[in-house]
Amino acid sequence: MIENRWDISPAILNEAISWRHWFHQHPELSMQEYKTSAFIRQILDKYEIPYVFPAPGTETGIIALLGNGNKSIGIRAELDALPITETTGLPFSSVNNGVMHACGHDIHMTALLGLLVHLKVIEDASLDIRIIGIFQPSEEKLPGGAKLMIDAGLIEQFNIELMLAQHVEPALPIGTIGVHAGPFMASSDELYITVQGHSGHAAQPHKHPNPIIATASIVDHIYKSQIQLHSPVEPFLINIGKVCGGTATNVIPDKVEIAGTIRTFSETTRSNAHKNLMHNIPIIAQTYDCKALVNIKKGYPVLTNNQGLYELLKPAFQREGFQVVDVPKRMGSDDFAYFSQQIPSFYWRLGSAIKEHIKEQSPTAYLHSSNLIIRDDTVHFGIKALLIAIETVKSSLS
Ligand SMILES: [Zn+2]
Ligand SMILES: [Zn+2]
Repeated sequence: MIENRWDISPAILNEAISWRHWFHQHPELSMQEYKTSAFIRQILDKYEIPYVFPAPGTETGIIALLGNGNKSIGIRAELDALPITETTGLPFSSVNNGVMHACGHDIHMTALLGLLVHLKVIEDASLDIRIIGIFQPSEEKLPGGAKLMIDAGLIEQFNIELMLAQHVEPALPIGTIGVHAGPFMASSDELYITVQGHSGHAAQPHKHPNPIIATASIVDHIYKSQIQLHSPVEPFLINIGKVCGGTATNVIPDKVEIAGTIRTFSETTRSNAHKNLMHNIPIIAQTYDCKALVNIKKGYPVLTNNQGLYELLKPAFQREGFQVVDVPKRMGSDDFAYFSQQIPSFYWRLGSAIKEHIKEQSPTAYLHSSNLIIRDDTVHFGIKALLIAIETVKSSLS
């Protein structure tokens, strides 16, 4: 073991930055991460890091394996990018038109790969814990790569006892980590409603049930029902993002399509909301002689950070020089939530903004923006955070 185990060699760091540039330049959409996966395997081969490919339930996922012992820690990094045309002007901008690493997954992959190479180079033989490096496809697209892997037996096959993951955070400066105990990110489900009426002349409303009137009542119900569906101290929302129907002033349309999103912080609230919508919306439609078909497409569940891991990791990050801040719950979602439902898990936000920008109150663009710029030095902090986390939590397993 080296004296200061947090020191990453400049050679490894420089190489890691070159991987980061390659990932950023060659983004691939969810479930299509073939070249990204091949690139990672090339690096693993170069450093003789064993891996399983393809990972259970996937075509592109990789499970890298390092260290010895009976205890094992899983670390997740996502492979996929987004259907966005990059406008950053970076010298290593995307060469794949219309696809961009706009969620920082290029940084997550690089940090995990850098961690594995660092550990392999400095202390492979003495590493008394098994590190399971999970390169996971399709975080950005349902049903989520995490679910596919877990359903295919990933946790049992590799005997994973706890899971870690980090996500870049442009709202926090580089060198800062954002933590949260308990439910952290919302469940996210898609709501689709078709309100069926009967088309006809607008001057004959007594003969033609108008789905637009039923829709007005349904939307009203959705917003009013939110008061009863959850505890006032628990964030919750149903928001309608789309209503489509009708063609002219004097025509009653055949149907109206409604679409929205449902976000909750508990499985109880989530299932109560689903039951309420499924039960009441058709009844409301009926009162207008219309029919409503309600379809809820289940997305990711609530991401819950383990309290014990929070208590271990927060002071550990602070001790090793990170600024650590408690951050509030987020209404966004991440399929890492599936891991957190199965085994103790911890997911933190890795600051990636330039401090001066925060001071000037003009932060860099946010995640999923075409002009998001994440600086290369975030990689170093990402590797360091993973190292600290492993060293800290491994004691909790013994
Ligand atoms: Zn994203
Ligand atoms: Zn992301």
